[in-house]
Amino acid sequence: MLQKPKGTYDIYGDKALTYLYFRKIAKALMDKYNAKFIETPIFESSELFHRGVGETTDIVSKETYDFKDRGDRNLTLRPEGTAGIVRCFIENKLYVENLPLKTWYLGPMFRYERPQAGRYREFYQFGVEAFGSNDPMMDAEIIGMACNLFKILGLKGVSVNINTLGDKESRENYRKALLDYFKPYLNDLCEDCQRRYEKNPLRILDCKVDSSNEIMKDAPKILDYLNEESKKHFDKVKEYLDAMNIDYKVNPNIVRGLDYYTHTVFEVQADIKGFGAQSTLAAGGRYDHLVEFIGGPSVPGVGFALGLERLFLALDAEKIDIREVVCPDVYIFSAGENQKTNVLALANDLRMAGFNTEVDYDSKNFKSNFKRADKVMAKYIIIIGEEEVNTKILTVKNNETKEEYKVELDKLIEFLDEKIGDEDED
Ligand code: ATP
Ligand code: MG
Repeated sequence: MLQKPKGTYDIYGDKALTYLYFRKIAKALMDKYNAKFIETPIFESSELFHRGVGETTDIVSKETYDFKDRGDRNLTLRPEGTAGIVRCFIENKLYVENLPLKTWYLGPMFRYERPQAGRYREFYQFGVEAFGSNDPMMDAEIIGMACNLFKILGLKGVSVNINTLGDKESRENYRKALLDYFKPYLNDLCEDCQRRYEKNPLRILDCKVDSSNEIMKDAPKILDYLNEESKKHFDKVKEYLDAMNIDYKVNPNIVRGLDYYTHTVFEVQADIKGFGAQSTLAAGGRYDHLVEFIGGPSVPGVGFALGLERLFLALDAEKIDIREVVCPDVYIFSAGENQKTNVLALANDLRMAGFNTEVDYDSKNFKSNFKRADKVMAKYIIIIGEEEVNTKILTVKNNETKEEYKVELDKLIEFLDEKIGDEDED
């Protein structure tokens, strides 16, 4: 039997309901912030990710799905959302009239990783990218968005860790301090970190292998290397987070070590035992130089991405069920083979009038139809036989209370509107 590729999964049944419900909640929240939805291609030129994510990151150096198409183009399945959104922002000149602009996306990402709980090769990210403001208000608002999303979903055990990388000058000073500090310990670091030392020493602090190494504890802290400007920015972010009653901790070990990251970086962790390396639910930060780096104008940005699988695991762990069950309002079946035309015509009218309608396709007997109506959890049942067609009066049965109503065909929609219409309104 053919099976799905390693590290992927199917979304169906309860999982599909959870997924759809999350989309609905996410969109509603994004509307509250006046953030606009953007969908970009699942694959992009490989070069975009090499530039936009960075050669020294694990993502690009080890995890991308790269391929050549039949026209010999180098393409990559997107491993994250930011680079594509930034490319779209530049290519469509969204900076011309729209700034500041908040955007959001939701879709599959691809990384060649060792599959485990909360870590897949195809996984879903919801993310936000906001362009066009240098102000720390924007940093705080973005962090607030992630927090509010968790709050709306009812998730309690999350903690927000923030840090700053400062501006270019501060980070350069810090980089030098890290190089000096790690130099005598180079042989104690993992192979990856030895490479990071040369190319991007900040990422050493981000290493999963070396994180428990004693040397890390005394490594220089960015907060001691910030210039006045950067300190001020960070203080404002904290002040604004306080104003929104958002709990956070300053954690100097959080780095997103790419060259274009500036100022605020943050992660939201789930406080769940056994989550291990998969405990980060969402991560983000300010990237004032990325748009320019990818070939656009100098426009600052700030954003975050959240992994849906980990979010759903965290919700499970807190026994929070976010499924939205949608059932047919009406189930129609025919008393006899020759009523299919009428069943289908009525179902079509009802659907276009706004009612979820399921039908019987197989002219099964009454018993199996009632069974199926129960199984699909239909609210009302309508049976169409010769008599109904002749008199144009239908028997409509409430499938819960078992009450029966005689309803004229012409008045059916009115009747259903009254019975069902209101309860469906959001
Ligand atoms: P990690 O350190 O766990 O590998 P990351 O730093 O690579 O995460 P980001 O690139 O910041 O992750 O992505 C943001 C979020 O996307 C993560 O916090 C996580 O929730 C989710 N995520 C990342 N990689 C995967 C994956 N392979 N499977 C499922 N979710 C993932
Ligand atoms: Mg990773």
